Amino acid sequence: MVLEVTKGPTRVVIDPRRCIANAKCTAAAPGIYVLDEETGVAVIENADEATMEQLFAGARACPTQAITIEQAGRRVFPLIVPPMFGDKGDASPEE
Ligand code: SF4
Repeated sequence: MVLEVTKGPTRVVIDPRRCIANAKCTAAAPGIYVLDEETGVAVIENADEATMEQLFAGARACPTQAITIEQAGRRVFPLIVPPMFGDKGDASPEE
């Protein structure tokens, strides 16, 4: 079970900080997205068998956009990720 999967040019990443464990992705793509029993957040299982449709279905079902998909290094889903409350972002000038 992993938070990141690369299949050819496609990379799927789950951000555990965004996951609210509501299991929408696991309902959309059962057996591919599962909730980790220890951490409670979504992870990817059976990555070798996962189809693109299943990976995208789980990402689309996620209300917090915790699942992002890149193809050839460019994000294709979601196209815009809004900041979460408390996010400082990567470009914080405070450091
Ligand atoms: S749908 Fe999103 S928030 Fe819900 S369990 Fe899956 S990754 Fe987490």
